[in-house]
Amino acid sequence: MITRDFRRSEFRCPCCSLAEPHPALVIGLQWEIRDLVLLPVHVHSGSRCALRNRAVGGAPGSFHLPRLDMDGYTCAADIRVPSVALARLFNLAEASAAFRDGGIGIYVVTAGRSWLHVDVRGVAGLHPAARWAYVDGQSASIEGALREDERRRALVAHGG
Ligand SMILES: [Zn+2]
Repeated sequence: MITRDFRRSEFRCPCCSLAEPHPALVIGLQWEIRDLVLLPVHVHSGSRCALRNRAVGGAPGSFHLPRLDMDGYTCAADIRVPSVALARLFNLAEASAAFRDGGIGIYVVTAGRSWLHVDVRGVAGLHPAARWAYVDGQSASIEGALREDERRRALVAHGG
């Protein structure tokens, strides 16, 4: 375990086992997300090599890649807590020391599969903060994406 609830293997690149998450990333996930939602936080993408990043359509300068300007660490995690609304995770990330000056991205897909991207690009003071949102792969406003996540959750809750 690298913190109480996270093990290094959760951050592994599935094709090559690269797993070099920035310490601030792991500590932020533990103290500022996991310890507040009190539920398991699933890391569905952590470290990525360049090959894997291309395969999943990641941006060329993705913070999931090892970065020379961040001491060689990978600085991003895509996280999912199926029973927690993305709005809650987004607000926790916005309030956190680890992520508020970094990147926070919302990805709404099928209810229960949606995820939040968080990264610690801000810790070195080299990169401006960034926020973005996608619904089914289409760019969206933060508010619109969070509303759509709520709507899809309600549909599932009512058996729709
Ligand atoms: Zn790989």
